[in-house]
Amino acid sequence: MRKEDCIFCKIINGDIPSNTIYENSDFKVIMDASPATKGHVLILPKEHFKDIYDIDAETAGKLFQLASVVARALKEALHCDGLNILQNNGSIAGQTVFHFHMHLIPRYEGDTVTLKWEEHSVEDMDVEKIRQDIRKAL
Ligand code: 5GP
Ligand code: ZN
Repeated sequence: MRKEDCIFCKIINGDIPSNTIYENSDFKVIMDASPATKGHVLILPKEHFKDIYDIDAETAGKLFQLASVVARALKEALHCDGLNILQNNGSIAGQTVFHFHMHLIPRYEGDTVTLKWEEHSVEDMDVEKIRQDIRKAL
């Protein structure tokens, strides 16, 4: 997808309005338009990175620093019982907007959020080969 067609680039440029919480030279923090819970926010880098494979490590580091600050603000403002950080990459993983973003989802007793997987036995996998393959790729 071209940057010109990216909905988050349009929000960052101000072409599309958004409920902005915070902004600096690198990031914009906005309310999610279809929140999973009260206070669901998104952290957007201003530069168009497609996903985790595209973003540079320095920006990713700064983004997580900001996430920790925003998380504390959500806790203080909303008295949430917990909080999930979610960052989807690829359609199979649930990514629908292909401009890197991080979700901060405050959690409340009795909310309707689910992100649960079936647990598999390591016996069914060649864990040693998997470990070696990942080590080699790093
Ligand atoms: P993804 O599924 O790609 O991880 O998350 C995309 C998120 O962007 C969704 O939670 C969706 O509600 C949110 N979203 C999509 N379009 C807009 C928009 O125009 N404005 C805002 N504030 N959020 C949006
Ligand atoms: Zn974009």
